[in-house]
Amino acid sequence: MSVSSKSYKGPQTVPRYDGSEVFENLTPGTIAMLQTYPAMKRRFQKILDGEWVATSYFQPLASGRQCSCWGTNSAPSGACRVCYKTGIVGGYSKYGTDAWVLDATHPEVKMSNLKLLTAKEGPVLFGLDDQATRGELIATGWFSGSGSIDVLESLLWEETGRISISIRTPAATDWLEARTATVDSLLATPQRFDIRVTLDRPSLSATTPLFAKLLIRRHLNDTDGTEVRANRPRGTHAMALTDIGVLDEWTSERWWLDATLQNLTSNDWFYDRANAVRWKIVDTEKFAPQNYLLSWDATVRKVQDFEPIIFFPV
Ligand SMILES: [Zn+2]
Repeated sequence: MSVSSKSYKGPQTVPRYDGSEVFENLTPGTIAMLQTYPAMKRRFQKILDGEWVATSYFQPLASGRQCSCWGTNSAPSGACRVCYKTGIVGGYSKYGTDAWVLDATHPEVKMSNLKLLTAKEGPVLFGLDDQATRGELIATGWFSGSGSIDVLESLLWEETGRISISIRTPAATDWLEARTATVDSLLATPQRFDIRVTLDRPSLSATTPLFAKLLIRRHLNDTDGTEVRANRPRGTHAMALTDIGVLDEWTSERWWLDATLQNLTSNDWFYDRANAVRWKIVDTEKFAPQNYLLSWDATVRKVQDFEPIIFFPV
């Protein structure tokens, strides 16, 4: 039987693949999600390698302990150095860090010979009992990371008398003075720790010492991952200001950032490390086609001397 010429199709062609056919049946939108946006995102990060200022980035805490400065007041206090008028103990989180705050609202504080003092404004303070010249409190904390200490800050008054703060861990059970280097080495691995605050006064008539808070803030990673790069300024108006060298005299700028930060809002602020200036975000614009975040434009203004965040440890 012979092969009919009508049904014979000749040798089959072997299909060749170059990669493009993978996208043949996809919509332009899907192709952008898979190829274009990731490439743009990387390119934007590269742009910041060219010109940038190093900043630290702060966001108000979304949840936590309600600050004791509320008390009977209807709003948190603007003078409060525990919540910085946010109403939540600690106030703000710094990008790339984890914080622990000891204050009157801490759930695990054991006091001896101490009492809590309510001021008209500001947080509740620890002071000595009427009949005591010495007293102490012990609080327990826990850190899950292994990064180094970013900030160790206390808020206390010792015009007369003295306050000493010490730390111990399950591995080092002797109390050691809580200096940065000591805390750094004791908390080098994730673990539980105790903080002891001892108050001493020379006589019962002395109205201090008083203790308000201790903040321990640590880097999340072993390397300092707290730097956020911003490109500034943007736009012809601001460029002209740069040209005449008076940029810092102006209170508002337009910044550009890559997609490192996921959720920039007008409650957040930056600290320009080189110039030691705080910038509050006024307005943000997201460049996020199909909700794929690529970059941010942010209008920022200088933080003024009377604003509570001017006192926040950067
Ligand atoms: Zn407060």
